[in-house]
Amino acid sequence: MEQVRQIEPDLAFIGELMSLGGGDVNKCVQCATCTSVCTLSTNNPGFPRRQMLLAQWGLKEPLLSDPSPWLCFYCGECSKQCLRKANPGETMMALRRYLTSCYDWTGLSRLMYRSAAWELGILGLVASVVVLLFTLPHNFGFGLLSQAGPQALSRVMLNQFAPVEVVHRADTLLALMLGFFLLSNAARMFYRLTRNQQIPASDYVRRLPTMLFQAVTQVRWKGCQAGDAIKNWLRHLLLASGYVLMFTLVVIFLPWFQVSNDSIHWTSFLGYYATGVLLVGAGWMIADRAGKRGEMYRFSHLSDWLFPILLWLTAATGILVHIFRVQNLPMPTYVMYVVHLAIAVPMLVVEVPFGKWAHLVYRPVAIFVDAVGKDAMARSV
Ligand code: SF4
Ligand code: SF4
Repeated sequence: MEQVRQIEPDLAFIGELMSLGGGDVNKCVQCATCTSVCTLSTNNPGFPRRQMLLAQWGLKEPLLSDPSPWLCFYCGECSKQCLRKANPGETMMALRRYLTSCYDWTGLSRLMYRSAAWELGILGLVASVVVLLFTLPHNFGFGLLSQAGPQALSRVMLNQFAPVEVVHRADTLLALMLGFFLLSNAARMFYRLTRNQQIPASDYVRRLPTMLFQAVTQVRWKGCQAGDAIKNWLRHLLLASGYVLMFTLVVIFLPWFQVSNDSIHWTSFLGYYATGVLLVGAGWMIADRAGKRGEMYRFSHLSDWLFPILLWLTAATGILVHIFRVQNLPMPTYVMYVVHLAIAVPMLVVEVPFGKWAHLVYRPVAIFVDAVGKDAMARSV
């Protein structure tokens, strides 16, 4: 006898998705134009039509074990072609926001995506801790004036003000924390995506290079048919090169990169490249979003703004520290150094593991799981 399955829509999920950008999902009539115009949609059933249906019906569980939202690079072509103006591209983006908040076991991501006050409050709290570390009495390890001493006020002595070995240890600790949160959340995502699959572990091992290649290049983006997809991919690649270079300089090469006096070390030239591409790339993204240039910028969640703004401010304050230092201006150097860290540290410990930046691990994992699934399907056929 045929079984009848009753579907209970999760209304809370629908409401949450709408608040995250999927406000037009109910306009969808399942015509499938979006799937047919999406050049990245090679799955069966294809995205984003299937995800529109699941979202309309409030079926959260199948979406939690679906890699498809991460296979979309938001070129916006489907939204442009949708006659019902149901915004499937933005709904896929809203799904990624929702999924990011579900993968995170700490609950911070959920708080931040649900409330702007929480997101800004957490960033502000971490920034305040950084400022306090530099302004509390010197026996706490740092000290704006008390530790630096009168000599460091007559000429730049950055390592007197912020001992490089202490900052380097703190950097390493931050990198470990960041890695732990990112990888533990990625492991939760991987478990969700694969728990119902019966695929041998050797298939996953064979596809590991795919994940690493995608993580480094995000080359799948080039497959989007929208006119500016290649431009967006190249800009993203350039930005990532600057970000990874700067992260490496700060976490691994800080003893050389943080110069104490007004001289220039050769690592500074690598810093110039990283700062240049971060300023141009992030500034360009901010301008595109502010001007709503393109489908993908029509709706902006707070997390979309914080992502490039914090990056731009980090690069701008970093280069100001450098300029003040080589100009031998002690006080402006020290103050700007604290401002720089009060922006960079919250960005690294809050936005990267819990905000939009987490896509740097979630997307390659989804592409990896999808590739392994397709391999298994092809073998069975
Ligand atoms: S989102 Fe638009 S194009 Fe896609 S199936 Fe629904 S109505 Fe059709
Ligand atoms: S936004 Fe682009 S990549 Fe994403 S589903 Fe639509 S057409 Fe495909």
